[in-house]
Amino acid sequence: MRQDGLTQQISARPLLAVRGLNLDFGTPRGRIHALRNVSLDVPAGQVIGIVGESGSGKSTLAYTVMGLLPENADVTAGSILFEGKDLLKMPIPARRTLLGDRLSMIFQDPMTSLNPVRTIESQMIDIQHHDQGSRSEKRARALDMLLRVGIPDPESRIGAYPHHFSGGMRQRVCIAMALLVKPALLVADEPTTALDATLEVQIIHLLKDLQKEIGCSILFVSHHLGAVAELCDRVAVMYAGEVVEQGAVRDIFHNPAHPYTRALLECDPGRIKKSTRTLPTIPGEVPSLLGSKQGCIFRTRCRHAYNRCVQESPVEYRIGLDQVARCHLLAEERLVSA
Ligand code: ATP
Ligand code: SF4
Repeated sequence: MRQDGLTQQISARPLLAVRGLNLDFGTPRGRIHALRNVSLDVPAGQVIGIVGESGSGKSTLAYTVMGLLPENADVTAGSILFEGKDLLKMPIPARRTLLGDRLSMIFQDPMTSLNPVRTIESQMIDIQHHDQGSRSEKRARALDMLLRVGIPDPESRIGAYPHHFSGGMRQRVCIAMALLVKPALLVADEPTTALDATLEVQIIHLLKDLQKEIGCSILFVSHHLGAVAELCDRVAVMYAGEVVEQGAVRDIFHNPAHPYTRALLECDPGRIKKSTRTLPTIPGEVPSLLGSKQGCIFRTRCRHAYNRCVQESPVEYRIGLDQVARCHLLAEERLVSA
């Protein structure tokens, strides 16, 4: 009995659990609080989207998980449990071993991860350094993966250099490289933002198919809500360094609870039915992240803000089974309906 319970507990444990994460960037103007009390789960085999306006901390969160932060970054609190181990406490060599093995990343600009002066073949073989097998076996795997990501006639293309490929094809090569190592978690930071709409759809379908086949989880950072709706099982909405709402994609997109999520969805070009020359934006600006904050971080732009929002930071409220949001109104609604 005890063992069954333990097995259940282990299988229920998320692959990645971010808890109470705070991160500052040191700047000449002071400390920028880029992540504040961020908590988020990535269950095994699921795709989690991170959405929010520019500057909300999406990329910072992705890079923190990968351990690829600039020197002025300082994690001041929290933990990042990956397969039960805290990445923030892991010795650097152990963390490096995880990269390109259990964890891999796709960047917005494929040239971030490709070496311009080496052939695709040598880079795809090198990335398999954790795997057993001869060079010719690794080459065969690379060819197979190139074919699966839609590179036609890979035998004739594998010897080429990155600049011989178009932007869309380079991103396919990066996806092939990231998945060649069969990671448990793939972190994708705006992988389709630089591509046109047709290529974006193709890459999203490709990621979806390969994720199912490999069974990995994906942390997918995007400002494109349509792409998130298409690819993700769950979504976390970030605003000014905080996760303000998270839950299953269908719940968040059909029944958003946080005023910021609602505003973000109202401004989504994919959802606007009327033809218009100007796309709506959320009035006001993302607040400065310098210095400490009191009250709700969204209050300067929220049309529902009231006294309590100035004085008190909202805690997380559960809405239904699989959705949580940080807004005082949710507590008030409960009082009214009670
Ligand atoms: P975008 O969609 O534009 O990429 P984002 O949601 O990914 O935005 P981040 O790039 O994570 O946001 O930035 C979060 C905040 O941290 C922003 O205010 C940004 O200016 C700041 N920031 C990011 N990197 C640094 C850095 N190296 N030094 C100082 N501030 C930084
Ligand atoms: Fe708006 Fe207040 Fe809710 Fe913040 S807590 S989102 S300011 S109503």
